[in-house]
Amino acid sequence: MKQPNRKRKLSMDSKEHLNQDGCLEQAEEEKKPRDGATPLSHVPSVAAQEAWSWEQYLTEQKAIAAPVELFSKDQSFPEHENGFQVGMRLEGIDPRHPSVFCVLSVAEVCGYRLRLHFDGYLSCYDFWTNAGSPDIHPVGWCEKTKHELHIPKGYRKDKFVWMDYLKACKLQNAPKKLFRNRSSNGPMPKEFQVGMKLEAVDRKNPSLVCVATIADIVEDRLLVHFDNWDDSYDYWCDVNSPYVQPVGWCQENGRTLIAPQGYPDPENFSWTEYLEATQTNAVPAKVFKMRPPHGFLPSMRLEAVDRRNPRLIRVATVIDVDEQRLKVHFDGWDHKYDYWMDADSPDIHPIGWCDITGHPLEIPYRANDVKILPGQAVCPTPGCRGIGHIRGPRYSGHHSAFGCPYSDMNLKKEATLHDRLREQTQANLESDSSHSRSKNLCSLNFNGKHEKVNSQPRLVQQAKCLKIKGKEDIDLDNLFRANGTVRPSSCPRKSLLWPPLPR
Ligand SMILES: [Zn+2]
Repeated sequence: MKQPNRKRKLSMDSKEHLNQDGCLEQAEEEKKPRDGATPLSHVPSVAAQEAWSWEQYLTEQKAIAAPVELFSKDQSFPEHENGFQVGMRLEGIDPRHPSVFCVLSVAEVCGYRLRLHFDGYLSCYDFWTNAGSPDIHPVGWCEKTKHELHIPKGYRKDKFVWMDYLKACKLQNAPKKLFRNRSSNGPMPKEFQVGMKLEAVDRKNPSLVCVATIADIVEDRLLVHFDNWDDSYDYWCDVNSPYVQPVGWCQENGRTLIAPQGYPDPENFSWTEYLEATQTNAVPAKVFKMRPPHGFLPSMRLEAVDRRNPRLIRVATVIDVDEQRLKVHFDGWDHKYDYWMDADSPDIHPIGWCDITGHPLEIPYRANDVKILPGQAVCPTPGCRGIGHIRGPRYSGHHSAFGCPYSDMNLKKEATLHDRLREQTQANLESDSSHSRSKNLCSLNFNGKHEKVNSQPRLVQQAKCLKIKGKEDIDLDNLFRANGTVRPSSCPRKSLLWPPLPR
């Protein structure tokens, strides 16, 4: 970054654009916050926050910082300022459905980070990302690269024209120059092609290696899709990722390969037969080059986004590592809040990142630093300053365990959100080809085969579906992920038929 902006700033003017973009639901929703509209005053710990420095803290703790060299380009200090402004429109990946590109708007800018909003949807689905994220693209990118653009709710796909949308709603597109140019990473080797097969780690259950397909390629990254599973397990990675391996890797390394869901004889899966049946090819083994191990070690300090409250970045310690991941502990917090993160997650940063990029850093909690004023409504969770809400950015703060992302009652249900697209899928099947395909395939799949499928240890799809009903419709994917248990499939209605369509 050429001119580090050391002034800490937090843009909270997110309501402005909400009123602009013609989404009545959002505007109304923002007007009636129920639980703790105002976050707990930050005043008690401002003094402590101001006086705090990494240098002093590391000396006090006799701790070391994770060396900058361990961080990737996406994690390390940015080379450019964050030029995005609230209200700007762009295109980008839905983190919960990595194969889906959406119309997004910048809802909030904080340091080098952005809160992005799905146009036409409630703000509870907003998510945070880095300004240099490879997941975001300028307006028109989908058309240029022949990707399907998931348009704002309420618009007809055949009638949506970006420029008309911007003009009609008096909106501004985010200028191209604000997006990070990733060409320096070099192009994707030509041997990797969409539709080719490989073996890939299920990032939600990293002990599992599964039959997978390259579903998409953008710049230097590929989209991994697990055969016969819905797209919520998909992920983007670069070709050197330890998560992707050539066909036959499991056999060579004595690992169990998980066959596609519904494969007739999963115990005796044969790549040769499968490639022939699906008329697909494997990515040639020789083009895989694994990057060196990540190098993070227990006790190293860093700055990490708190996924329970993703607007916050906290002082954190690596307390455990495995091949592809590190376990982070937030300093001063109970160990029950620890969790595993991918070593290449864009949500970890070297120390000093917040300061350089102008993002607030949540310093380690010390009970003595917090002084509560008489009569002040305070969140009862130790360490919690009342910022954020279990229901996402819809509410900026809370003052009770009900809204607290860290309270015991909420700890097991980190994401209480319904799937943004699931409801739409029901309503808009006719107009959305990708999702109608899932449905058609599903309806064909209900022939009893899934009983056999359920005998596999990873497939606990019935458990999930039995639990999903009415108001208790919580995101079990996240719940299971947080608890480190095996992956539940989505509801059988989203599972695909056998044999699969080649992708
Ligand atoms: Zn709280």
